Amino acid sequence: MVEGGDVMEANVEARPVIRVQTAATAEPKESPEAAQHELKMTARNVNLWYGEKQALFDVNLDIFDRSVTALIGPSGCGKSTFLRCLDRMNDVIEGVRFKGDITLDGQDIYAPQVDPVQLRARVGMVFQKPNPFPKSIFENVAYGPRIHGLAKSKTDLEEIVVKSLTKAGLYEEVKDRLQESGTGLSGGQQQRLCIARAISVDPEVLLMDEPCSALDPIATARIEALMEELKESLCIVIVTHSMQQAARVSQRTAFFHLGKLVEVDETAKIFTNPTDVRTQDYVTGRFG
Ligand code: ADP
Ligand code: MG
Repeated sequence: MVEGGDVMEANVEARPVIRVQTAATAEPKESPEAAQHELKMTARNVNLWYGEKQALFDVNLDIFDRSVTALIGPSGCGKSTFLRCLDRMNDVIEGVRFKGDITLDGQDIYAPQVDPVQLRARVGMVFQKPNPFPKSIFENVAYGPRIHGLAKSKTDLEEIVVKSLTKAGLYEEVKDRLQESGTGLSGGQQQRLCIARAISVDPEVLLMDEPCSALDPIATARIEALMEELKESLCIVIVTHSMQQAARVSQRTAFFHLGKLVEVDETAKIFTNPTDVRTQDYVTGRFG
Protein backbone atom coordinates (compact mmCIF):
# COMPACT_ATOMS: atom_id res chain seq x y z
CA MET A 1 0.00 0.00 0.00
CA VAL A 2 2.98 2.36 0.10
CA GLU A 3 3.90 2.48 -3.56
CA GLY A 4 3.34 5.56 -5.69
CA GLY A 5 0.13 4.34 -7.25
CA ASP A 6 -1.57 4.40 -3.90
CA VAL A 7 -0.51 7.99 -3.29
CA MET A 8 -2.23 9.09 -6.47
CA GLU A 9 -5.29 7.06 -5.72
CA ALA A 10 -5.68 8.54 -2.22
CA ASN A 11 -5.42 12.09 -3.56
CA VAL A 12 -7.89 11.60 -6.31
CA GLU A 13 -10.35 10.06 -3.90
CA ALA A 14 -9.89 12.48 -1.02
CA ARG A 15 -10.28 15.75 -2.88
CA PRO A 16 -13.78 15.49 -4.33
CA VAL A 17 -15.10 14.42 -0.93
CA ILE A 18 -13.71 17.59 0.63
CA ARG A 19 -15.21 19.84 -2.01
CA VAL A 20 -18.62 18.24 -2.28
CA GLN A 21 -19.41 17.33 1.29
CA THR A 22 -18.70 20.53 3.17
CA ALA A 23 -21.35 21.78 5.54
CA ALA A 24 -20.94 25.24 4.01
CA THR A 25 -21.99 24.11 0.56
CA ALA A 26 -24.68 21.78 1.85
CA GLU A 27 -26.60 24.54 3.59
CA PRO A 28 -27.94 27.87 2.39
CA LYS A 29 -25.60 30.69 3.43
CA GLU A 30 -28.21 32.65 5.33
CA SER A 31 -29.34 29.85 7.65
CA PRO A 32 -28.18 29.99 11.28
CA GLU A 33 -26.63 26.55 10.82
CA ALA A 34 -24.48 27.83 7.98
CA ALA A 35 -23.24 30.68 10.15
CA GLN A 36 -22.12 28.12 12.72
CA HIS A 37 -20.12 26.23 10.17
CA GLU A 38 -17.92 28.85 8.64
CA LEU A 39 -14.60 27.66 7.38
CA LYS A 40 -11.99 28.27 10.08
CA MET A 41 -8.88 26.49 8.81
CA THR A 42 -7.88 24.89 5.55
CA ALA A 43 -5.05 22.52 4.71
CA ARG A 44 -3.99 22.20 1.08
CA ASN A 45 -1.47 19.68 -0.25
CA VAL A 46 0.22 19.29 3.10
CA ASN A 47 3.35 17.16 2.96
CA LEU A 48 5.72 16.60 5.83
CA TRP A 49 9.02 14.77 6.20
CA TYR A 50 10.96 13.71 9.29
CA GLY A 51 14.43 13.70 7.77
CA GLU A 52 14.15 11.41 4.75
CA LYS A 53 10.92 9.80 5.88
CA GLN A 54 7.70 11.26 4.55
CA ALA A 55 4.92 11.23 7.16
CA LEU A 56 2.17 13.21 5.37
CA PHE A 57 1.19 13.00 1.71
CA ASP A 58 -0.86 15.78 0.08
CA VAL A 59 -3.36 16.18 2.90
CA ASN A 60 -6.35 18.38 2.09
CA LEU A 61 -8.84 19.25 4.82
CA ASP A 62 -11.42 21.92 5.57
CA ILE A 63 -12.01 22.60 9.25
CA PHE A 64 -15.19 24.37 10.30
CA ASP A 65 -15.80 26.78 13.14
CA ARG A 66 -17.99 25.98 16.14
CA SER A 67 -17.82 22.27 15.59
CA VAL A 68 -15.65 19.28 16.39
CA THR A 69 -13.56 17.62 13.71
CA ALA A 70 -12.19 14.19 14.65
CA LEU A 71 -9.01 12.72 13.16
CA ILE A 72 -8.98 8.92 13.28
CA GLY A 73 -6.82 6.16 11.86
CA PRO A 74 -4.38 3.46 12.92
CA SER A 75 -1.40 4.24 15.10
CA GLY A 76 1.44 5.91 13.16
CA CYS A 77 -0.78 7.14 10.30
CA GLY A 78 0.13 10.79 10.90
CA LYS A 79 -2.74 12.14 13.00
CA SER A 80 -0.52 13.86 15.59
CA THR A 81 1.85 15.06 12.89
CA PHE A 82 -1.02 16.67 11.01
CA LEU A 83 -2.46 18.20 14.19
CA ARG A 84 0.91 19.74 14.98
CA CYS A 85 0.98 21.33 11.50
CA LEU A 86 -2.09 23.34 12.52
CA ASP A 87 -0.25 25.29 15.24
CA ARG A 88 3.26 24.93 13.81
CA MET A 89 4.41 22.72 16.65
CA ASN A 90 6.44 20.71 14.14
CA ASP A 91 8.63 23.80 13.67
CA VAL A 92 10.41 22.98 16.90
CA ILE A 93 11.24 19.38 15.87
CA GLU A 94 14.64 19.10 14.27
CA GLY A 95 14.83 17.71 10.73
CA VAL A 96 11.19 18.41 9.87
CA ARG A 97 10.37 19.70 6.40
CA PHE A 98 6.91 21.04 5.65
CA LYS A 99 5.36 21.75 2.28
CA GLY A 100 1.84 22.93 1.65
CA ASP A 101 -0.63 25.62 2.67
CA ILE A 102 -2.52 26.00 5.89
CA THR A 103 -4.79 28.96 6.56
CA LEU A 104 -6.53 30.34 9.61
CA ASP A 105 -9.36 32.71 8.70
CA GLY A 106 -7.95 32.76 5.19
CA GLN A 107 -4.43 33.77 6.28
CA ASP A 108 -1.38 31.62 5.63
CA ILE A 109 -0.09 30.50 9.05
CA TYR A 110 3.32 29.64 7.55
CA ALA A 111 3.84 33.14 6.14
CA PRO A 112 7.18 34.66 7.25
CA GLN A 113 5.51 37.48 9.20
CA VAL A 114 3.52 35.05 11.38
CA ASP A 115 4.93 34.66 14.89
CA PRO A 116 4.40 31.03 15.93
CA VAL A 117 4.01 32.09 19.58
CA GLN A 118 1.18 34.45 18.67
CA LEU A 119 -0.30 31.77 16.43
CA ARG A 120 -0.36 29.31 19.33
CA ALA A 121 -2.37 31.78 21.38
CA ARG A 122 -5.03 31.60 18.66
CA VAL A 123 -4.63 27.86 18.13
CA GLY A 124 -4.24 26.12 21.49
CA MET A 125 -3.18 22.55 22.13
CA VAL A 126 -4.08 19.95 24.74
CA PHE A 127 -1.89 16.86 24.84
CA GLN A 128 -2.45 13.20 25.51
CA LYS A 129 -0.75 13.19 28.88
CA PRO A 130 -1.93 16.02 31.13
CA ASN A 131 1.12 18.28 31.50
CA PRO A 132 0.43 21.02 34.05
CA PHE A 133 3.40 23.19 34.97
CA PRO A 134 4.90 22.36 38.37
CA LYS A 135 3.29 25.51 39.69
CA SER A 136 0.07 26.42 41.49
CA ILE A 137 -3.31 25.84 39.91
CA PHE A 138 -3.69 29.63 39.69
CA GLU A 139 -0.31 30.11 38.02
CA ASN A 140 -0.97 27.37 35.47
CA VAL A 141 -3.93 29.34 34.16
CA ALA A 142 -2.52 32.85 34.74
CA TYR A 143 0.70 32.19 32.82
CA GLY A 144 -0.65 32.58 29.27
CA PRO A 145 -2.77 35.69 29.87
CA ARG A 146 0.21 37.27 31.64
CA ILE A 147 2.78 36.65 28.89
CA HIS A 148 0.30 37.75 26.24
CA GLY A 149 -0.57 40.87 28.22
CA LEU A 150 -4.27 40.07 28.40
CA ALA A 151 -4.81 41.33 31.96
CA LYS A 152 -4.51 45.00 32.88
CA SER A 153 -4.55 44.41 36.62
CA LYS A 154 -4.36 41.71 39.27
CA THR A 155 -8.16 41.72 39.49
CA ASP A 156 -8.35 41.30 35.72
CA LEU A 157 -6.03 38.33 35.89
CA GLU A 158 -8.00 36.72 38.73
CA GLU A 159 -11.14 37.14 36.70
CA ILE A 160 -9.58 35.42 33.69
CA VAL A 161 -8.36 32.54 35.86
CA VAL A 162 -11.76 32.02 37.47
CA LYS A 163 -13.54 32.27 34.13
CA SER A 164 -11.19 29.78 32.45
CA LEU A 165 -11.41 27.28 35.31
CA THR A 166 -15.19 27.62 35.28
CA LYS A 167 -15.39 27.05 31.53
CA ALA A 168 -13.16 24.01 31.93
CA GLY A 169 -15.57 22.64 34.55
CA LEU A 170 -12.92 22.64 37.28
CA TYR A 171 -13.52 25.77 39.35
CA GLU A 172 -15.90 24.31 41.91
CA GLU A 173 -13.45 21.50 42.68
CA VAL A 174 -10.39 23.72 43.14
CA LYS A 175 -11.65 27.14 44.23
CA ASP A 176 -10.42 26.66 47.82
CA ARG A 177 -6.93 25.56 46.82
CA LEU A 178 -5.87 27.71 43.91
CA GLN A 179 -2.42 28.11 45.44
CA GLU A 180 -1.82 24.35 45.62
CA SER A 181 0.24 22.62 42.95
CA GLY A 182 -1.47 21.69 39.69
CA THR A 183 0.44 18.43 39.62
CA GLY A 184 -1.31 17.31 42.82
CA LEU A 185 -4.68 17.03 41.08
CA SER A 186 -6.16 13.78 39.74
CA GLY A 187 -5.49 12.90 36.09
CA GLY A 188 -8.91 14.07 34.96
CA GLN A 189 -8.59 17.30 36.93
CA GLN A 190 -5.11 17.88 35.51
CA GLN A 191 -6.46 17.51 32.01
CA ARG A 192 -9.24 20.00 32.75
CA LEU A 193 -6.57 22.31 34.18
CA CYS A 194 -4.66 22.00 30.89
CA ILE A 195 -7.86 22.84 29.03
CA ALA A 196 -8.37 25.86 31.33
CA ARG A 197 -4.77 26.90 30.59
CA ALA A 198 -5.34 26.51 26.85
CA ILE A 199 -8.58 28.52 26.82
CA SER A 200 -7.29 31.25 29.19
CA VAL A 201 -5.79 33.15 26.24
CA ASP A 202 -9.14 32.97 24.42
CA PRO A 203 -8.05 30.84 21.46
CA GLU A 204 -10.16 30.43 18.35
CA VAL A 205 -9.12 26.84 17.71
CA LEU A 206 -8.44 24.09 20.23
CA LEU A 207 -6.38 21.10 19.14
CA MET A 208 -6.64 18.00 21.31
CA ASP A 209 -4.35 15.02 20.83
CA GLU A 210 -5.98 11.96 22.41
CA PRO A 211 -6.92 14.08 25.42
CA CYS A 212 -8.72 11.25 27.20
CA SER A 213 -6.45 8.29 26.58
CA ALA A 214 -4.87 8.56 30.04
CA LEU A 215 -8.22 9.07 31.76
CA ASP A 216 -10.85 6.80 33.31
CA PRO A 217 -14.36 6.66 31.82
CA ILE A 218 -15.84 9.21 34.23
CA ALA A 219 -13.07 11.74 33.61
CA THR A 220 -13.42 11.03 29.88
CA ALA A 221 -17.15 11.73 30.00
CA ARG A 222 -16.45 15.07 31.70
CA ILE A 223 -14.00 16.10 28.98
CA GLU A 224 -16.44 15.05 26.28
CA ALA A 225 -19.23 17.09 27.90
CA LEU A 226 -16.84 20.00 28.07
CA MET A 227 -16.04 19.71 24.36
CA GLU A 228 -19.75 19.79 23.64
CA GLU A 229 -19.98 23.13 25.48
CA LEU A 230 -16.76 24.62 24.15
CA LYS A 231 -17.66 23.92 20.55
CA GLU A 232 -20.48 26.48 20.86
CA SER A 233 -17.80 29.16 20.65
CA LEU A 234 -14.68 27.33 19.44
CA CYS A 235 -13.34 25.31 16.58
CA ILE A 236 -12.11 21.96 17.98
CA VAL A 237 -9.95 19.35 16.28
CA ILE A 238 -9.47 16.13 18.22
CA VAL A 239 -7.26 13.16 17.52
CA THR A 240 -8.73 10.04 19.03
CA HIS A 241 -8.00 6.34 18.78
CA SER A 242 -11.53 5.67 20.03
CA MET A 243 -14.05 5.45 17.25
CA GLN A 244 -16.82 5.58 19.85
CA GLN A 245 -15.43 8.87 21.06
CA ALA A 246 -15.21 10.27 17.53
CA ALA A 247 -18.81 9.23 16.96
CA ARG A 248 -19.95 10.82 20.23
CA VAL A 249 -18.16 14.17 20.06
CA SER A 250 -17.55 15.12 16.44
CA GLN A 251 -19.62 16.47 13.58
CA ARG A 252 -17.01 15.65 10.95
CA THR A 253 -14.48 12.85 10.87
CA ALA A 254 -11.33 12.51 8.80
CA PHE A 255 -9.80 9.07 8.33
CA PHE A 256 -6.01 8.92 7.92
CA HIS A 257 -4.07 5.92 6.67
CA LEU A 258 -0.32 5.70 5.99
CA GLY A 259 0.08 9.47 6.04
CA LYS A 260 -2.78 10.15 3.66
CA LEU A 261 -6.19 11.57 4.36
CA VAL A 262 -8.34 8.86 2.84
CA GLU A 263 -11.76 10.30 3.48
CA VAL A 264 -13.48 13.13 5.33
CA ASP A 265 -17.19 13.54 5.79
CA GLU A 266 -19.98 14.00 8.26
CA THR A 267 -19.26 11.72 11.19
CA ALA A 268 -22.44 9.68 10.77
CA LYS A 269 -21.57 8.99 7.14
CA ILE A 270 -18.00 7.90 7.96
CA PHE A 271 -19.27 5.39 10.49
CA THR A 272 -22.30 4.07 8.64
CA ASN A 273 -21.63 4.47 4.95
CA PRO A 274 -18.06 5.44 4.11
CA THR A 275 -17.02 5.79 0.49
CA ASP A 276 -13.55 4.25 0.66
CA VAL A 277 -13.01 0.58 1.36
CA ARG A 278 -10.07 1.41 3.66
CA THR A 279 -12.35 3.56 5.83
CA GLN A 280 -14.91 0.78 5.81
CA ASP A 281 -12.32 -1.76 6.91
CA TYR A 282 -11.09 0.47 9.70
CA VAL A 283 -14.45 1.49 11.14
CA THR A 284 -15.68 -2.07 11.07
CA GLY A 285 -12.59 -3.18 12.97
CA ARG A 286 -10.96 -5.16 10.18
CA PHE A 287 -7.63 -3.44 10.82
CA GLY A 288 -6.13 -0.88 13.12
P1 ADP B 1 -0.26 8.96 14.90
O1 ADP B 1 -0.46 10.18 15.75
O2 ADP B 1 -1.32 8.77 13.87
O3 ADP B 1 -0.07 7.72 15.71
P2 ADP B 1 2.27 10.22 14.23
O4 ADP B 1 1.89 11.50 13.59
O5 ADP B 1 2.74 10.28 15.63
O6 ADP B 1 1.08 9.17 14.07
O7 ADP B 1 3.43 9.54 13.38
C1 ADP B 1 3.40 9.42 11.97
C2 ADP B 1 4.72 8.84 11.50
O8 ADP B 1 5.75 9.78 11.74
C3 ADP B 1 5.12 7.57 12.23
O9 ADP B 1 5.76 6.74 11.33
C4 ADP B 1 6.05 8.08 13.29
O10 ADP B 1 6.98 7.09 13.64
C5 ADP B 1 6.74 9.23 12.59
N1 ADP B 1 7.14 10.28 13.57
C6 ADP B 1 6.34 10.95 14.43
N2 ADP B 1 7.02 11.84 15.15
C7 ADP B 1 8.31 11.76 14.74
C8 ADP B 1 9.53 12.44 15.10
N3 ADP B 1 9.54 13.39 16.02
N4 ADP B 1 10.65 12.06 14.44
C9 ADP B 1 10.65 11.11 13.49
N5 ADP B 1 9.53 10.45 13.11
C10 ADP B 1 8.39 10.75 13.72
MG1 MG C 1 -0.57 10.38 17.83
